[in-house]
Amino acid sequence: MSEAVMQRGVVSESGRFDRLGQLDPGREYRLGIMGGTFDPIHLGHLVCAEQAREQFDLAAVIFIPTGQPAWKLDRHVTGSEDRLEMVRLAVAGNPAFDVSRLETDRPGVTYTVDTLAWLRDYYPDNVKLYFITGTDAIIQLFQWRSADRLAKLASFIAASRPGYEPEAALAAHERSAVKFDLHLFEVPALAISSTDLRRRRAAGRSVRYLVPEPVEKFIVDRQLYRS
Ligand code: ATP
Ligand code: MG
Repeated sequence: MSEAVMQRGVVSESGRFDRLGQLDPGREYRLGIMGGTFDPIHLGHLVCAEQAREQFDLAAVIFIPTGQPAWKLDRHVTGSEDRLEMVRLAVAGNPAFDVSRLETDRPGVTYTVDTLAWLRDYYPDNVKLYFITGTDAIIQLFQWRSADRLAKLASFIAASRPGYEPEAALAAHERSAVKFDLHLFEVPALAISSTDLRRRRAAGRSVRYLVPEPVEKFIVDRQLYRS
């Protein structure tokens, strides 16, 4: 394990946001959580997080790559250290972004509810949690394990994503027995998905400009997604 792989902070690798909320207990601080498999991370994820940060006045966005995703047990997922490293490379230049090993280091299948419960327990009450997703993921979320618990732990903000109508998300929320503090927001549309990137690589095609440059270099160097 290289030195860079060690998490020095409690919540995120740098620990920069560990004390969020403590400076002024009378003020509200908003913390964005960007969960995902990030296999690999791409510009769609980054635009989504940055736009969420700006539009919802988030103090920071912490990217938390899943350990073993509950809904992707049927396909091969790249090792968690490689996915984490790609996220690390992708967020390095943004002072409001950081990466966390919380789910990487938790044994067993990853459930978002466990992560949000841990964060809720860790931070003081004046820190509000905002879980960031795309419109596709929010629709699934209504059916997630412990939806009722999830709804109490955080607000949910869902970015527009090509191919997924916001109306579908609203209708799914309407049907859901559990009601969430849900906010849909618009981001410049990027029809990029990790699935498509993996296919491109498998077909020997380029992923340049679809992922940050250092991520592309990592993918090529490590020969990821070639078969
Ligand atoms: P896969 O195709 O493997 O499912 P993905 O591109 O959907 O990969 P995930 O890691 O599954 O990426 O997604 C993490 C989060 O980012 C989800 O909430 C997803 O909705 C959101 N997201 C992914 N791509 C985009 C995009 N292009 N625009 C907006 N949101 C996105
Ligand atoms: Mg996905």
